[in-house]
Amino acid sequence: MIKLVRGFKDILPTETALWQYVEATVRELLEDFGFAELRIPILEKTELFARSIGAGTDIVEKEMYTFTDRKGDSLTLRPEATASVVRAYIEHKFYAKDPVCKLYTIGPMFRRERPQKGRYRQFYQINAEVFGLHDPRADAELILLLMKFMNRLDLSGIVLHINSLGCHKCRPHFKDDLKTFLANRSEQLCSDCLRRRDENPLRIFDCKVPTCKETMTDAPSILDRLCSKCRSHFNTVQDVLKMSHIPYETNHRLVRGLDYYTRTTFEVLAGALGAQDAVAGGGRYDGLVKALGGPDQPGVGFAIGVDRLIELLAGQVQGLEKRSHLFIAALGVRAQDRAFQWVQDFRMQRFRTEMDLEDRSLKSQMRRADKLEASYVLIVGDRELDEGAAVLRNMTTKEQERVPLRGLVGFVVSRIKPTTTGRNNEDRR
Ligand code: AMP
Repeated sequence: MIKLVRGFKDILPTETALWQYVEATVRELLEDFGFAELRIPILEKTELFARSIGAGTDIVEKEMYTFTDRKGDSLTLRPEATASVVRAYIEHKFYAKDPVCKLYTIGPMFRRERPQKGRYRQFYQINAEVFGLHDPRADAELILLLMKFMNRLDLSGIVLHINSLGCHKCRPHFKDDLKTFLANRSEQLCSDCLRRRDENPLRIFDCKVPTCKETMTDAPSILDRLCSKCRSHFNTVQDVLKMSHIPYETNHRLVRGLDYYTRTTFEVLAGALGAQDAVAGGGRYDGLVKALGGPDQPGVGFAIGVDRLIELLAGQVQGLEKRSHLFIAALGVRAQDRAFQWVQDFRMQRFRTEMDLEDRSLKSQMRRADKLEASYVLIVGDRELDEGAAVLRNMTTKEQERVPLRGLVGFVVSRIKPTTTGRNNEDRR
């Protein structure tokens, strides 16, 4: 038997209702915030990711699924979405129509990390990106949107961390501080970090090796090195969060695993997830559009890890909206023929409807109706056809009533209102 590739997984029919619910909730919210959906390909030129995410990052150094296609081009399964969204923003000249552009995209990403709980080699993200806005309120608004989403899903036990990585003016000073700090700590650093120390010491904050992590607990803070513009930007982001009653913690070690960030970075963590506790992360990337050959337009965005969100929500599946549905138990050739037509008519009325096409006994058809969790069963055989009325059984209350064959579909539809035991979507905060 051929099995799944390690680190990949199937999302089963019993799970997809929750995925659909999460996606529908976020789409609604994103569209209310003025975002439009962009669908980007899964495959891009390798250079796009190497240039945007950064050559010294774990993603580019170790985790990309890269291959040479038959013509010798180097292609990569996308490890994240921002680079592709920026490429599309430039390629389709979205900025010419309106530099302020809000885009979202939902889909799978691929990273060859060591698989473990909450960490897969194909995982799903919801990405939102805003272009053309320098104002710190754009950063804060994105965070607000992210937290509204978490709130709509009723998630508790989550913490928002924020940081600023400064800009091309103040960050070099901080890098020098870090290099000085790390100068005589070579023994405590892994071989990757020894190399990073010279090229890009900020990356060391991201290293998962315990000795590197421990070394960095005493490292200097970038927040002490911000220039006045970066400081004021960061202060405004915090002011808006406070005004909006969004609790947060500043975390000067939050550098994120990608090189393109400037100024604001943020992450949402959920302790309940264990070691892989980041549910979402994002930040500002003002130089990226230009670096990839576009105009000098700023950008800010986030990515939500859907797999981890689903894990947090898994206990709440029973709260999902359930539509009533119908099973027609038809006995005998004549009833089967009529039922086949009714099934199609009910479906056109947006009722999920099933029947047994093999003309089994009533007992076995009722068992099937139970298995399918039908809310109602319509029973019809030769006797019902002769008498001009079928039997409608409510599977919850077990009550039965006779329903006339003439105009049957309309009559039954008016009796079975789709039950919507939907989740409470009201914001609690
Ligand atoms: P990143 O851009 O790496 O910060 O990723 C954004 C979010 O995607 C993270 O906060 C995670 O929730 C999710 N994520 C990243 N990598 C993985 C992975 N290998 N498996 C599952 N989820 C992931």
